[in-house]
Amino acid sequence: MVNLSDLPIRDDLRGLEPYGAPQKPVRIALNVNENSHPIPEAVAQDIVESLAAAILTVNRYPDREFTELRESLARYLNPGLPADKALTADNLWAANGSNEVLQQILQAFGGPGRSVLAFPPTYSMHKILASGTGTRWIAGERDAGYEISPETVTRWIDETTPDLVFLCAPNNPTGTGVSLETIEAAYNATDGIVVVDEAYAEFAGDDEPSAITLLDGRPRLLVSRTMSKAFAFAGARVGYLAADPAVNDALRLVRLPYHLSALTQAAAVAALRHTPEMLAMVDDIRGQRDRLLVELPKLGYSVLPSSANFVLAGGFDDPNATFEALLQRDILVRDIGIEGHLRITAGTKAETTALLDALASLRPAT
Ligand SMILES: *Cc1c(COP(=O)(O)O)cnc(C)c1O
Repeated sequence: MVNLSDLPIRDDLRGLEPYGAPQKPVRIALNVNENSHPIPEAVAQDIVESLAAAILTVNRYPDREFTELRESLARYLNPGLPADKALTADNLWAANGSNEVLQQILQAFGGPGRSVLAFPPTYSMHKILASGTGTRWIAGERDAGYEISPETVTRWIDETTPDLVFLCAPNNPTGTGVSLETIEAAYNATDGIVVVDEAYAEFAGDDEPSAITLLDGRPRLLVSRTMSKAFAFAGARVGYLAADPAVNDALRLVRLPYHLSALTQAAAVAALRHTPEMLAMVDDIRGQRDRLLVELPKLGYSVLPSSANFVLAGGFDDPNATFEALLQRDILVRDIGIEGHLRITAGTKAETTALLDALASLRPAT
């Protein structure tokens, strides 16, 4: 038996801890921003039929180009775009979760000797992916209220000349949106790659347009999305990217051959055939998020505006104690290491009620 530290591991990985929220068997899991609503039974049946057909040919490697999936993703995104700016399959890329997409981006455009600028607090995987690919991480600073103004992003790019800029919109864990003006300013300030992580885009308001609307004429702008959150498909592992076709050619240089299994492709294509049913709960979830934004302050906690399916709540004297007390009530939330704060996913109505009742019992309103 040896320990990890006994192995000749890369120096820059020595002493690191693996990423991952605690996985605990609880009744109410509000810790990793999943969609709490299971997918509708009828949709599940149709996906199973597609999987049943796909399994009959798994003796062969899958379509390396996942063409049908890329076409389906273009069809999904295009209603949000003017007809003359419509995306085609050539603009789309997919992988096993948007985390893999982001890793491929860093493999192709980052790496040793290169750097990525990001704005903490933000999705912690961004830094870990930078580390895993040997890309130097530059931490920019946000404005008040966790906002990033066009001036701020420009100043940080001018001062640090990164090879890539990562923006998370809406941002995890704060829920803060990023304006299109800020994304345009970032693009104009750099010759490098600008990545907008839009994992939560479907939960944003109708007045908060996607960076996908900026893609036309901006070949260095990359917008990553996922089916893990709004689409209730976290367990299937499907993330995707909308970008210039040349970007996808770059990702073809670093992706593993046949990286998307035939089963993943079949399941995702089938789910996308049922987009309206799959997204039916998004409005409900937004409603529960807004309920958290109203009710948490009544219990004495501060909240930040959120465009996502979670709320960052502050005012916890001892976040870890509250985390444990909620866990005793079979409710799991996320301690993301911001002093005095916990991140809470908006679940079903019943789950949100249980969470609010539990918090009320822990700290009655004064
Ligand atoms: C949850 C999340 C993802 C999703 O990752 P997948 O690998 O697609 O499941 C990506 N970015 C952010 C900011 C997230 O919070």
